[in-house]
Amino acid sequence: MAAQILDGRRIAAEIRSEVAERARVLSRTGVRPGLGVVLVGDDPASHVYVRMKTRACEEAGLHARDITPPADIGQADLLSIVDELNADPEIHGILVQLPLPRHLDEREVTERIDPSKDVDGFHPVNQGRMAQGDPHAFRPATPAGVQELIRRTGVDTSGAHVVIVGRSNIVGMPMSQIMLQKDPGANATVTVAHSRTRDLGAVTRQGEILIVAVGRPEIVRGDMVREGAVVIDVGVNRVEDPSLERGYRLVGDVAFDEAAERASWITPVPGGVGPMTIAMLLRNTVTSAERIGRMATAGAAPAAG
Ligand code: NDP
Repeated sequence: MAAQILDGRRIAAEIRSEVAERARVLSRTGVRPGLGVVLVGDDPASHVYVRMKTRACEEAGLHARDITPPADIGQADLLSIVDELNADPEIHGILVQLPLPRHLDEREVTERIDPSKDVDGFHPVNQGRMAQGDPHAFRPATPAGVQELIRRTGVDTSGAHVVIVGRSNIVGMPMSQIMLQKDPGANATVTVAHSRTRDLGAVTRQGEILIVAVGRPEIVRGDMVREGAVVIDVGVNRVEDPSLERGYRLVGDVAFDEAAERASWITPVPGGVGPMTIAMLLRNTVTSAERIGRMATAGAAPAAG
């Protein structure tokens, strides 16, 4: 294997310890950063994920408040929960775990979150400000984590051709906006590929940095990777594996062994992008607490995002 491993677990641990230090500084002013997490229904995988977030918060000195309404909660009651968190002075970040059950209007719920507490970065105010290059807008945790991974390898993105596969609102689209910013960790030339792209391999082979967020196991094969590329695999897919007791294993969207023969850096799955997502969420929450604290001292309401 030629590629070096981009170790998301190690880098995420570094970020969590930076967050813990900032939380300690804040605690001297009597502020404990708080994250409110709303998880509707009883999907076991979502509960595991939310427990991981809660534990990570507590380890970093943040306060986490989980609210777990039943799957049949009505829209008005869910909006009331968001209103309550918006008004709660101990809560600085709000996350509503998506997707919501089909009878609920996700857009209305997302837009109800106070943009200054929108640490998931999905509110249109934050998305719009990010698209306009505002460095203070909260950025969605997964693409922000990808940028941080790239930054911490020391790989220079300025002028580099970044190819992103996937254009979802959660990953691919904000990823493209982040890499386009006039910002030392970005300044890239960006191409976005998706399901309608003709000859995907011809596009991905142009990527000096290749970011893949599709959700299809190993769709990017080794011969689709440019020699020396930095490869970031956002995908997490379960594939059957009867040799394991649990009956499945996790693989990314990139055929790891093949791609590692050509790449210079590559993220593993698991242990690459995944741990970064939670770390960036904690970082946004502590940033929000710092801003709200500063605004309270200055006697003003916090600006959005
Ligand atoms: P979506 O399903 O929302 O988007 C997938 C994107 O891939 C779409 O833009 C789609 O194109 C594109 N696509 C689908 N098939 C192809 C194809 N054959 N060739 C090229 N492009 C294709 O997924 P998400 O963005 O939400 O997630 C992507 C992956 O990342 C998933 O595996 C998910 O589990 C993982 N993920 C991991 C996170 C982490 O923390 N590690 C966080 C979030 C997601 P089109 O728009 O044309 O339909």
